[in-house]
Amino acid sequence: MQIRHHPLRGSPPGTQRRISSFHYGAGQAKAYVQASLHADELPGMLVAHHLRQRLAQLEAEGQLLGEVVVVPVANPIGLGQSVLRRHEGRFDLASGENFNRHYPALTALVLPRLEGRLGQDAAANVALVRAAMRDAIAALPARDELAHQRQTLLGLACDADVVLDLHCDAEALPHLYTSPALWPQIEPLARLLGSRAQLLALESGDNPFDEACSQAWWQLAAEFEGRHPIPQACLSVTVELRGECDISHEQAQADAQALIGFLRLRGLVAGPAPELPPLLEEATPLSGTDVVSTPASGVLVYRRALGERVRAGEVVADVVDPLSGEVHTLASCTDGLLFAREAQRLAHAGRSVFKVAGAVPVRSGKLSTQ
Ligand SMILES: [Zn+2]
Repeated sequence: MQIRHHPLRGSPPGTQRRISSFHYGAGQAKAYVQASLHADELPGMLVAHHLRQRLAQLEAEGQLLGEVVVVPVANPIGLGQSVLRRHEGRFDLASGENFNRHYPALTALVLPRLEGRLGQDAAANVALVRAAMRDAIAALPARDELAHQRQTLLGLACDADVVLDLHCDAEALPHLYTSPALWPQIEPLARLLGSRAQLLALESGDNPFDEACSQAWWQLAAEFEGRHPIPQACLSVTVELRGECDISHEQAQADAQALIGFLRLRGLVAGPAPELPPLLEEATPLSGTDVVSTPASGVLVYRRALGERVRAGEVVADVVDPLSGEVHTLASCTDGLLFAREAQRLAHAGRSVFKVAGAVPVRSGKLSTQ
């Protein structure tokens, strides 16, 4: 195992933040696992802790067939943000930007670097594209610490065959986000993790990390169709490891084991393929997830539990105004599975408070939540 430290440029004088990456094994194949890009989503950090122990063991036994890179703390900037004893890890306090948005779109960056260089050998094209990605990312102007953090993470992940971005929701069942084109290969991971919602979108909006890693491949394949073969060389997924308080050693060990099982299926770890449990829920379009906002502020009272199936129009929560006595009932507009809820019980008008995964599109445009 090798530890590499990547100091962030732009830290205030007298301080120095850095991304630390842990590299297990070696070889052509590469997997990249990062935790807590939203720095207040800690289940992934504990999973990374247990994953590292398993990887060290597998490396010692000579069982690693490729390189597995683990970044247990993907967002040191966010980890250092507190306001009045409350940790804020989702948005950069300085800019207001969501830490998992606005990753550079790689296609436009690599196209000029590929001019006249691609051929008919798909594997050689993959190597060329990856080299162009590394160079293009390294050449990005890191105008501030946040930009350099994004640049560093994407630089570590861009040439991986498998990218697992470990997040969680506020209160939630395990679920994941990926592209429809990648779903058949991600499906075993959903089974291993017991994922309860598999939310598919080609573009969810504002370029989150997992899409930044994989989207260039299908875009370049379309660009060079009929001229140069470009396979989908990166399989990326955002894994939501339940809710922010769902943290235990037992669960984290089981999740780490599931990730190892998936890496085994992808050829990065030796040994027999794991037995796959059944898929608990069919994949649904992310556009089919109703993200229900409250029209009023007040006390949020849930009437339905996570994991319940709700019908369109059924009341899921009330928002109570204790002064006027008014009770606003909140319902989903679609039939589906209630898989995520807000953790705070003070509802703010205009903010989303629960999510229901349905099979039929009910939204369009930007699909990711704030
Ligand atoms: Zn997140």
